[in-house]
Amino acid sequence: MKAIIFGPPGSGKGTYASRLQAQLGVDVVAMGDIFREIMKEHTQLGNKVKQYVEKGLLVPDNVVIEVLKQRLAKTSKSKGFILDGFPRTIEQAKALEGIVPIDVVIQLDVPDWIIIERLSTRRICKNCGEIYNIRHLKPKKEGVCDKCGGQLYQRSDDTSEVIKERIGVYERQTQPVLQYYKERKFPQIEFKCKEVNMPPEVALERIVKDLKRLKLVQ
Ligand code: ADP
Ligand code: ZN
Repeated sequence: MKAIIFGPPGSGKGTYASRLQAQLGVDVVAMGDIFREIMKEHTQLGNKVKQYVEKGLLVPDNVVIEVLKQRLAKTSKSKGFILDGFPRTIEQAKALEGIVPIDVVIQLDVPDWIIIERLSTRRICKNCGEIYNIRHLKPKKEGVCDKCGGQLYQRSDDTSEVIKERIGVYERQTQPVLQYYKERKFPQIEFKCKEVNMPPEVALERIVKDLKRLKLVQ
């Protein structure tokens, strides 16, 4: 299975992708995680990426596409993968077609008020990147990752100012990608979230059921 998980910031892309990875044994390629790793290195590329991410703006397409190509070259051919956070522009969607064919787009539909509530209370594991929420998806022990014991932190772009910018960027630049896939009649799975405290398992069950129906997983 080669899937794209698509939705606004805070829609649960990373949360579901990490659970689908555990359940289905697929690889996850998360663009935001890759950039956070790159930013830790104080290279020219790292510093450039940081200028965009800190403001909630998109990293330029040519940079993103090159980084993605290199990362995809490392994925196992047999396992399949889920792309989280790519493509975020029509240009990226077009480039992807030249890199690898995609089987399905998993679309997450979440109202703005839930996004804002979730992002402002989100925490991430410093060590493994697992996603928590101090109100709606708490770790067993405060400030500590259930999976690896790592320390939880708040992303520097999860502040109200930058969250607003990211939502705007999504609406202007990323939402049109959905239309692009609709026009090309790509298989789509849609999950609509209506409650802020909906357990990830509910969405997951629905998504897996649809993937089975499309015969993308057994
Ligand atoms: P979110 O929680 O908003 O979905 P991510 O962790 O996926 O955030 O991405 C964080 C930031 O990394 C984005 O706000 C953007 O600056 C940059 N980024 C991630 N993926 C892309 C992409 N495909 N194109 C351009 N910039 C990207
Ligand atoms: Zn962890």
